[in-house]
Amino acid sequence: MQVEKIPQEFMVALPLLQQIRAAGFEAYFVGGSVRDTILGLPIHDVDIATSAYPAEIKAIFERTVDTGIEHGTVMVLDHGEGYEITTFRTESGYQDFRRPDKVEFVRSLKEDLKRRDLTINALALAPDGTVIDMFSGLDDLENKTIRAVGDPTERFFEDALRMMRTVRFASQLDFKIEPQTLQAIKANAHLLEKIAVERIQVEWIKLLLGKNVVQGLDAFLETKLYKYCPQFATREQALRKIAKLPQLKLADELECWALLAYVFELTPKQVRSFLKAWKTSNEISTEVQNVLAILEQATSDLDPLVCYHAKERATKAASHLLDILQLPLTGAKLLQTYTALPIKDKAQLALNGKDLLQTLGLKPGPGLGKILNTLEQKVVLGELANDKTVLLAQAEDRKSTRLNSSHLVRN
Ligand code: ATP
Ligand code: MG
Repeated sequence: MQVEKIPQEFMVALPLLQQIRAAGFEAYFVGGSVRDTILGLPIHDVDIATSAYPAEIKAIFERTVDTGIEHGTVMVLDHGEGYEITTFRTESGYQDFRRPDKVEFVRSLKEDLKRRDLTINALALAPDGTVIDMFSGLDDLENKTIRAVGDPTERFFEDALRMMRTVRFASQLDFKIEPQTLQAIKANAHLLEKIAVERIQVEWIKLLLGKNVVQGLDAFLETKLYKYCPQFATREQALRKIAKLPQLKLADELECWALLAYVFELTPKQVRSFLKAWKTSNEISTEVQNVLAILEQATSDLDPLVCYHAKERATKAASHLLDILQLPLTGAKLLQTYTALPIKDKAQLALNGKDLLQTLGLKPGPGLGKILNTLEQKVVLGELANDKTVLLAQAEDRKSTRLNSSHLVRN
């Protein structure tokens, strides 16, 4: 097969491949970017593979960085861009079900393609646009099939993450998993236990953001891979519930985690430990709790303060989830409430702590913070105009009330 139109991302890297070839070696584009080019999808990362050994690559190019030299990867710097060039290699050993004991550099493209996970990921693209297809990856792309390269059981024994990658691609590309490959996952799902959560997480999120999430989730459940993911083992029914949502189209990682936390009915404390187990960032954990605070209000009157405190990102995610979950409060209504908030952030309040210190002669401390919080709340709720004179007058009022009440207490 010949790729008619080589994507721009490849065009800019072509001179590098030609330079390697001029030095007497082979060089190809490989991996996901070749797959995506043939599918007409956008390319994320350009991977280049070569028969030249790392030292030979370093001799060809002036500016290089040893980004992963032990695995054969050297980054070549060219016009401000960095390109990762990896020597063809074979892998062997895999005693721990996740990484090879031994990596060996080789001169043969076929050997390199053979160690890749799926046939659709084992294609190479030559600089002239010819696709090199040694494992019928093109047929599988044509027939929308996910198939392991070679014996699936062996391949999953080598690296158990490949099972997650398989179900991820079933969702992401809307492809069917070939029966023997599926069977091998069912038989070996428990090996996923050996894999670092961070690696599983990447595939899990890509699965949830895919084109056919229901298909990916069904495979994830049917093969029992879910049993070996953090805090999923006892939650099959809840995961099935997600697969049944009619309008399941998630926009980002935050929406994925918030939906899971909602369907699992987690308390804020449980949300933190759930997301910790999945090793997400603290930022995501906080945002998920903000989304849940909004979703909790979906059956009552929405308190504008909740979306004020949740802020824009969580509010947007919540509005999307309200529609996916078909809750009484609509996403549009939530966004309307958020947009109508007189201020979106404390920094927008027409009065700040300094003003209070200077004008009212208040002292720094919790009392000052309390007054500011009250003013902020009243402005958000539309009970006070966000106007400095109005707010100062109100603060003055609060100050004397506070003084009077403390006087009363002392008495
Ligand atoms: P994406 O589009 O999400 O980046 P990808 O297939 O390009 O998907 P990468 O992690 O970028 O995934 O890997 C690049 C290539 O390296 C893959 O296409 C595949 O050929 C090979 N590869 C990646 N992970 C594995 C693995 N666990 N086992 C075998 N080969 C792998
Ligand atoms: Mg990639």
